[in-house]
Amino acid sequence: MPTQATAPTAESGLMVRAEQVHKSFGPLEVLKGIDLEVRSGEVCCLLGPSGSGKSTFLRCINHLEKIDAGRIWVDGDLIGYRERGGKLHEMRDKEVAAQRQAIGMVFQRFNLFPHMTVLGNVVEAPVLLRRSKKAEARERAAELLERVGLGDKLGAYPGQLSGGQQQRVAIARALAMRPKLMLFDEPTSALDPELVGEVLDTMKDLARDGMTMIVVTHEIGFAREVGDHLVFMDGGVVVEQGDPREVIAAPRHERTKAFLAKVL
Ligand code: ADP
Ligand code: MG
Repeated sequence: MPTQATAPTAESGLMVRAEQVHKSFGPLEVLKGIDLEVRSGEVCCLLGPSGSGKSTFLRCINHLEKIDAGRIWVDGDLIGYRERGGKLHEMRDKEVAAQRQAIGMVFQRFNLFPHMTVLGNVVEAPVLLRRSKKAEARERAAELLERVGLGDKLGAYPGQLSGGQQQRVAIARALAMRPKLMLFDEPTSALDPELVGEVLDTMKDLARDGMTMIVVTHEIGFAREVGDHLVFMDGGVVVEQGDPREVIAAPRHERTKAFLAKVL
């Protein structure tokens, strides 16, 4: 059960605040007290070796994993818990679902519905979850697909698209819910090298439009160019963080140096 602490206020400008987040799977302690702050409109790049807990941490932010201790706020709201009489109570599934709607997530694997068109994939979530009027949802979906450069693919099926195009559909699908925050978990890792650029370009556009993003990636160029903040995790702790350009040019910790030496 999370411990007591003070919520960030609206004036703080923080979109995400994580405080001493702990998470274990059985005897395996995966997150050992993660502190992290992401300001509204900021792109936070999360780097670290495989198994360091990056995906688990992202999943904790939208309560796909329940944390064992600590607290996470998104836009000032405590995630997954409600405070009553000085105590924390776990939210009901319906409340958690409402919180999750404000947080878009894009995975390594795009998980599009293969039997639905590109437009159908993007329309589906808002119509089902938000009870958007179908005509409005279709119009917005078409706009979003235009924005990610797929305005000419509305009637295509996922199987007819390249991996990069499918990932851009997945991004449009997440945006259809009008999220306040977007979480990307290695969005380009499953792509052929020549398709990575188009997905990163779409993410750059989003960043330029002011979307708050946490991006788990090994794309150092993206972190350097687009990132406002870089967090390096290893073994379930934040080892080092700061301005991406500074951390990449002159990492202070041995573990950061060793990791960057491998991916650069
Ligand atoms: P990363 O994304 O940095 O590669 P993960 O968060 O996926 O790291 O995993 C961190 C550790 O937690 C790994 O050792 C992984 O095997 C373990 N882990 C992740 N999810 C589960 C789970 N649902 N059950 C048990 N162990 C898990
Ligand atoms: Mg991962």
